[in-house]
Amino acid sequence: MIIFQLSKSAIVRGLNVKIGSLNATLSRLVKASTKNGNPVIVLGFIIIAMIWTVAHVQIESSNETKFNDAVSDITNLSLLFEQDVLRTATDLDRTLKYLRRMQERSTTKVDWPALVTEEFTANARTAQIAVIDANGMMITSSADLYPKVPVDLSDREHFRFHRDHPDDLLHISKPVIGRASGKWSIQFTRRFTQPDGSFGGVIVISLDPSRFMTSYAKLKALHEPGFAVVRNDDVILAGAGYYAGSMGKSRTEEAHVSSIATKLQELQLSRKIKDGFARLCAERSVTGTDLTVLISSGYPIPLGWSLWHSYYGYAALLSLIAIITIVRSTRRQRQFVRHITKLAHVDTLTGLPNRLSFQNMIDDSMRSVVGLAEFSLHLIDLDNFKTVNDTFGHPIGDELLREVAARMAQSVRSTDHVFRLGGDEFALIQTDCTAPMQAEIVARRLCSAIAEPFMISGHPLHIGASIGIALADAATKEPSSLLKAADIALYLAKAEGRGTYRFHNDTLALRLETRQRLEIDLRTAIETNSLEVHYQPKVLLADPQVIVGYEALLRWRHPERGMISPAEFIPLAEESGLIVPLSEWMIREVCAEFRNRPEQECVAVNCSAIQFRSSNVAALVANCVSEFELDPGRLEVEITESTLMRDDASTMAQLLHLRTLGVRLSLDDFGTGFSSLSYLETYPIDCIKIDRSFVAKLGIEPRAAPIIRAIIALGSELNMTTIAEGVETTEQAECLLALGCTMAQGYLYGRPKSASETWSDRASSRADAVCAA
Ligand code: C2E
Ligand code: CA
Ligand code: CA
Repeated sequence: MIIFQLSKSAIVRGLNVKIGSLNATLSRLVKASTKNGNPVIVLGFIIIAMIWTVAHVQIESSNETKFNDAVSDITNLSLLFEQDVLRTATDLDRTLKYLRRMQERSTTKVDWPALVTEEFTANARTAQIAVIDANGMMITSSADLYPKVPVDLSDREHFRFHRDHPDDLLHISKPVIGRASGKWSIQFTRRFTQPDGSFGGVIVISLDPSRFMTSYAKLKALHEPGFAVVRNDDVILAGAGYYAGSMGKSRTEEAHVSSIATKLQELQLSRKIKDGFARLCAERSVTGTDLTVLISSGYPIPLGWSLWHSYYGYAALLSLIAIITIVRSTRRQRQFVRHITKLAHVDTLTGLPNRLSFQNMIDDSMRSVVGLAEFSLHLIDLDNFKTVNDTFGHPIGDELLREVAARMAQSVRSTDHVFRLGGDEFALIQTDCTAPMQAEIVARRLCSAIAEPFMISGHPLHIGASIGIALADAATKEPSSLLKAADIALYLAKAEGRGTYRFHNDTLALRLETRQRLEIDLRTAIETNSLEVHYQPKVLLADPQVIVGYEALLRWRHPERGMISPAEFIPLAEESGLIVPLSEWMIREVCAEFRNRPEQECVAVNCSAIQFRSSNVAALVANCVSEFELDPGRLEVEITESTLMRDDASTMAQLLHLRTLGVRLSLDDFGTGFSSLSYLETYPIDCIKIDRSFVAKLGIEPRAAPIIRAIIALGSELNMTTIAEGVETTEQAECLLALGCTMAQGYLYGRPKSASETWSDRASSRADAVCAA
């Protein structure tokens, strides 16, 4: 029983500690999850904490109810017990007093044997009645009415008490083993006197101590109950239950823990500790005696195991359900987040990792680079993709991108990573790439894989890939530097004809940087109006004094680099898109200049193929001639074969528009491009300009003269004038004249000069000048 109590109370105590630490842990978890911002977990933990708090409170309140019940049980029982003990003691005392009265009233010698066997005196409660004389010798006993052997009881505690105390008191002895009966008994005694008032002896009634307990020993109302009758000197007279076996012993010291408030004075409720266990005790003094009744029960009265079990069992079950719910919903939440994150990192069209993934991987990979090259970065740009997309539409373009992505993925190892950065831009991170050779093998494989025709929706599509490669080593400190390096290499690959790969190198980087700076400067130059137009005369070969027109040529006087050739900055302007504002400025400038020139003077402006593609040259010219009220017939536009090469409807429309306006067209640098005769037939060309390279070879290369002759013949056949460019010597001039060329332009006749220089030089000969219409 004690072991059971130990285990249960230990569990209850342990559980209280666990609930405390559980709540602390929960609050820590709640704090952590609040920080992480997961409301499901926060709510879950709050619910679990509430479940356990409710279970705990429920158990506590049940315990309190049980305890209060026990207090009230023990209080009531103690009253009954006290009444019972009181009745027994009063009964016995009444018998004692009766016997004494009989003795006192008797005039003759009292007949003690008769008295002690009387029906009134010897009843069920009494074990034995005896009478002792003044010397302590037993006169009679209900068990031995006429003792043959004298029985000396003068040593007995009760005898000595009455002999020494003249007061008439009821004395109750400790339990002793009866000399006559041989059984445990408690002696209830009173003294009697002789007629002369001297001490006459003691009347003794022995009581079987178990008689006190008959009604209570088997009581099950309390938990581990104990019943005892205690004399005021703490000797236990009778005990049952918890106090069974304590009879005759002094009431063992119990550590007093606390008293429990009671209204009744005669009742004392307290908590006491014995052998490490607390007990609830009720003590009640038996009125008119020096006896106390004591009832105790185990404390705290623990909740019935089943109840305890069920409360915490339910709490555990509910917590389990809550935990399962939390786990399931957080798992679902995590899956959702993973899905969203995946979407954010994946290109939905091709299924390849996207730019964000690429950026993350580059950052991570760069952090781990410590020595020489460890991985390489390939930036891949598709050639011709825009054309496919424009021609066949976006669905075909999308399908093509998917196919390209698949081919790329097939062309690399599983440890390499292909990304789609957007549009037709892809990237490859080639891991374990320590030498350019390794990167080259992969780049070549990629180029040829993409160069293979694609068959999409029945269309055979031809594209290509330009690849810029940069190797990441410890010297490349930032991911952005690596990207820039690969970007420069890609630029080079594209510039070198596309469909190929190039590595990054520092010289190239420097060149590119210079270019970029130049581009910024050019933009500033256009905005600040710091460009100039120079004019070079075109003359009649037969009479070079006759100027047939001028060619307007752009000049840029750079604040640091001095004069920069248009051959250098025009391609730059074309690539950056600056060609549009540049040509507009140029044409307006020329028109403004020639509005003030004599009506017979003509001027030619150069317009590149890109200008026609990126803006509407014809509309611009139309606007300018009307704004400056210039006769369009005085204006000539020089185009190159590259303008005609693209069979472009818009360019064609612009050329026709120019012709309709009355602007003349000349084909510049003739002979250097494809020199396809079909252009001359298709397009409304007025004049062919024989390229400088042929003129320069006159007299040096034998084939130069026949070529020039052929061009001149072709021109006259098609009703076009021909003009030779770059004439520097009189020999060349004579040769050209002999070949049938009519007009020329070159340093021999005049270098390109600013407007003011051109016309002050010519002022003297202006009178002779005749402008050929
Ligand atoms: P281009 O149209 O063939 O212009 C003639 C170029 O030959 C000019 O060079 C001129 O200075 C040069 N030149 C003229 N005579 C001789 C000569 O006897 N010997 C030598 N060696 N060169 C001679 P420039 O001005 O440097 O222009 C170069 C190119 O820049 C032009 O070639 C033209 O294609 C382009 N360009 C110039 N201005 C413009 C412009 O306003 N718009 C466009 N789109 N291109 C322009
Ligand atoms: Ca030209
Ligand atoms: Ca030219």
